Amino acid sequence: MTDTSKDISGKYRQITVIGAGLIGSSVARGIVRARATDKLVLVDANADVLAEARVLELADAYSSDAATAVTDADLIILAVPVGAMATVGALIGPQLKAGATVSDVGSVKASVLNGLQPHIPDGVHLIPGHPVAGTEQSGPAAGFASLFDDRWCILTPAENTEPVALEKLTAFWALLGSRVEIMTAEHHDLVLAITSHVPHLIAYNIVGTASDMEEVTRSEVIKYSAGGFRDFTRIAASDPTMWRDVFLNNKDAVLEMLGRFSEDLTALQRAIRWGDGDALFNLFDRTRNIRRRIIDAGQDDEAADFGRPHKD
Ligand code: NAP
Repeated sequence: MTDTSKDISGKYRQITVIGAGLIGSSVARGIVRARATDKLVLVDANADVLAEARVLELADAYSSDAATAVTDADLIILAVPVGAMATVGALIGPQLKAGATVSDVGSVKASVLNGLQPHIPDGVHLIPGHPVAGTEQSGPAAGFASLFDDRWCILTPAENTEPVALEKLTAFWALLGSRVEIMTAEHHDLVLAITSHVPHLIAYNIVGTASDMEEVTRSEVIKYSAGGFRDFTRIAASDPTMWRDVFLNNKDAVLEMLGRFSEDLTALQRAIRWGDGDALFNLFDRTRNIRRRIIDAGQDDEAADFGRPHKD
């Protein structure tokens, strides 16, 4: 396998993935499925996670030491919580070889770009990324190779990024099954605030409110959850560390979107109070159409009730 500066096959001689959780292990599985490297090294600071990854045979080599694991790597992908990216960047920065590409999978991009940039030496390409795919589970056993199939992966290169390095990383994600879109880190953070971050906050909030209820008992909340509540609980079961870091690192965009959300919620409150059925119907009709468009875009299953099996 060649690794010249003109090679845009999407394959790298050595790839080191740092963080062996849901996303890191899925990237590792995707790399193996796509035969995207000659040598895959998996790193995690947590000895139990690393041992689990080893049992699952996810890579060619395993390490708890990020710095030594990147010295020969041509592509390094950081798959740790957003709040840990800069710390890992400081560890690996001095060990990176010229011509290597550093990327990540973090759900926030501007803070990752700013946190990593000071640690990346000249001659190393920094191209942050975010595969918009995931589940509510964590850890190496939760990952799967097809996670990225037909999902978008957003790359947010800095202005001076070399086109060949970007083309190669784009080809890499295509090998893993993704469709790739390129945008600025700031635009990414604004878009994801409304499509991902605020929905998670709403889910955490509604599940938190329900669990605090005293008049309706918690057992009733669970018993009658099929009325809609349970669909929020899937999102609200997402990893607490990951989501804490998302909100701390995408503060401005999330607060902007929450402001709009609160205004629209107040309008709905008013419509209910004044019996404005047309306002309610018109909104619900519009939102049903959004669901249709998501299905048509191949981003979800058309089967009713998220395809849950139902007995006749
Ligand atoms: P995860 O399953 O919790 O995995 C993260 C792994 O990184 C854990 O094993 C963690 O160890 C390890 N880690 C933490 N700090 C580290 C460090 N300094 N050095 C080495 N390893 C370290 O989380 P995940 O869902 O894969 O998320 C990873 C990244 O993907 C996050 O940035 C997240 O924003 C992004 N992402 C997530 C999703 C999703 O749906 N989950 C989707 C797209 C992108 P410990 O267990 O000891 O903490």
